[in-house]
Amino acid sequence: MDEQQRTKADSGAVAREADLEPTYTDKAGNVVKKRILTGDRTTGKLHLGHYVGSLRNRVKYQSIYDTFILMADVQALTTHWENPKILKESVREVALDYMAVGLDPYTGGPDDQTKAKIVVQSHVSAIAELTVLYGLVTPMSIVLDNPTTKAEAQQYGMGGEAAPAGPTEEKTDVTLITYIEESTIPQLTTEFSELGEIDANDIVLASRELLKTMDVSQAQEYQQTKAAAGRAAEAALDELSELIYTLEQSKTLRKDVRSLIIRHKRTAGIRQMTYGFLGYPVSQAADITFVNAHLVPVGEDQVPHIELTREIARRMNKQYGGRRRILVEPQALIGGATIKGLDGNAKMSKSLGNAVYLSDSDQDIWSKVKKAVTDPQRVRKDDPGRPEICTIFAYHQQFNATTEPNIAAADLNVPAVEETAQMCRTAGIGCVECKQNLAAKLKAMLDPMRERRSKWEKDIPGLMDILKAGTGRGNEEGNATADRVKTAMHVDYWK
Ligand code: SF4
Repeated sequence: MDEQQRTKADSGAVAREADLEPTYTDKAGNVVKKRILTGDRTTGKLHLGHYVGSLRNRVKYQSIYDTFILMADVQALTTHWENPKILKESVREVALDYMAVGLDPYTGGPDDQTKAKIVVQSHVSAIAELTVLYGLVTPMSIVLDNPTTKAEAQQYGMGGEAAPAGPTEEKTDVTLITYIEESTIPQLTTEFSELGEIDANDIVLASRELLKTMDVSQAQEYQQTKAAAGRAAEAALDELSELIYTLEQSKTLRKDVRSLIIRHKRTAGIRQMTYGFLGYPVSQAADITFVNAHLVPVGEDQVPHIELTREIARRMNKQYGGRRRILVEPQALIGGATIKGLDGNAKMSKSLGNAVYLSDSDQDIWSKVKKAVTDPQRVRKDDPGRPEICTIFAYHQQFNATTEPNIAAADLNVPAVEETAQMCRTAGIGCVECKQNLAAKLKAMLDPMRERRSKWEKDIPGLMDILKAGTGRGNEEGNATADRVKTAMHVDYWK
């Protein structure tokens, strides 16, 4: 465990070994399974990155913990709201992927906690209800400072761009704009180089805000400067023009405008985000707590979200719980691996076009794998290679007879991982052969998955029944949680 992980573990956000005990004893003395909440945004079929990052562990955990798997279709809409049609197909594809990898789903009837409940988010109204209630206790600072939101905003092109001009300029006098461009901007940018490039719109926005929010000392400074400038009698000037002309004589007011411009620039990217996208961490807190999950299997990069969910649960418990704990503070179960994309990019991703899908055919896989990036220094077969920097070798490390029972069962005549590394370093194997070995292992791993997928492809109504059954259990749990929260908040008028 590195220092960063240790700090997170110390804060309680990351589960330690003792937290991974599969059961606990409830107040009535019953030994019950701990609950896991995991899931996927339904934005398309799943790939090998999803498999090593999460799906592989899910299959393992489903018999150990009481498992709920959320198909996060509403979360998918936070970035795909313009194209909702993809959701229907995606939900079906992801459900097929779940069946293919070997999830053992709950299909209705009494829940003995040995089956994975697959829940469709949009059909659990308690999640939306809890999102609204949690929003009441979540300060914007927590949402805005969430690093994952910032990173996702950048990924989806929603951050760091200038705010749209909006209606500000259209009502502003042309003479004033000219004055701002020729006088105010040069003065401000010379005085405050940290402002960088600014335009008339920045000055107008900041000045309008200053007019609205002036405190007593700012108002005094404004009136005194105006009077000294001898423009008090020029009643024809509107307030905005008056302030902007006055800036020239008051460094204090210029400093105030400078601060407002900097603040506006910081929030420019946020202004472009939808309310739904910005609220993602809060709704994710509802996604996790609607079943009162104890553990959430995530990668390191998702720990800030778990921290936020814990913070919200703490706030709800403190504010409304009294001596009772109304929500479980979940912990991150760090596990799973990451793999690079075939192009060597740090992340395998549909949008980057560098993914191998679980539903790809052998031909598709080979045509992708044969073009994959290897060690660029290995130009000829007799050049020694560096497996540690090779994408294909990273895949060998993830998909081999030790990690995958299906590969072990196939008993392939291919070198083991360390042997591959050794052969690469000594130029004992060519990259084409090395890639063929990988393709053979992927085939061995995926063939049984294809069989299961094929079975369910012929029974889509049966597949949908599984989603309905899991969603039904999700609704039972979600309604109970929402009831408990509303009662604690005294929103229980009919009780
Ligand atoms: S032999 Fe294999 S591990 Fe070595 S560079 Fe080629 S593909 Fe990569």
